[in-house]
Amino acid sequence: MASTPSSTSKGSPRRVGVLGGTFDPPHLGHLIAADQVLNALSLDQVLLVPANRPWQKVGSRAITSADRRLEMTKAAVGDAAGLSVSAIELELGGPSYTSVTLDALSGEHPDTEWVVIVGADAAAGLDTWHDTERLREQATIVVVNRPGADFQPPTGWRWELVEIPSVSISGTGLRRRVAQGWSIRFLTPDAVIDRITEWGLYHEAG
Ligand code: ATP
Ligand code: MG
Repeated sequence: MASTPSSTSKGSPRRVGVLGGTFDPPHLGHLIAADQVLNALSLDQVLLVPANRPWQKVGSRAITSADRRLEMTKAAVGDAAGLSVSAIELELGGPSYTSVTLDALSGEHPDTEWVVIVGADAAAGLDTWHDTERLREQATIVVVNRPGADFQPPTGWRWELVEIPSVSISGTGLRRRVAQGWSIRFLTPDAVIDRITEWGLYHEAG
């Protein structure tokens, strides 16, 4: 079941971060980004939101099923305080668009201010996202640094930069390592490695 924030009776809106992604697989880069932003902006919670169908990636490689990516993301987060995983994009079905996701989340949690967290690579492509006009109104964008991606201020957006300890870990790198039979220990939590092993994922480089 989706774990989503509940409204507060304190009066001030809850501020919740949304880190969307393919999470194929999830790794320490995602967890560090989510946790550092949680802390730096004193958010009430950060949701990791696996895409049902990451439309910008479909066709470029074989993507692991949404159910398995969701399960790996839950395994990665475990019971970390302040972090949780939302299944909202799987529940919505179809291609995943952040503006639609935020509408659905806002419907469930009207008293919430949304902060969309993106790495510097993803921030560079913000203007190619779906319905950017609406998204600009819905959320503040928080950009985190990422090795290999130059930070470009996203003009026309409400945005903030949060400096995090840089880690050169990526889903692509993890998939390649598994395909080559190299270790991914300490790059992602053991619980994720257990799922990858159990399901025999990433033997084909992609
Ligand atoms: P892939 O290599 O398959 O694209 P990925 O590691 O980029 O995988 P995604 O699911 O595409 O993971 O990324 C989701 C979000 O997390 C994006 O906004 C991305 O920029 C951010 N992110 C992923 N890894 C890092 C990292 N090491 N440091 C900072 N941000 C990251
Ligand atoms: Mg990526």
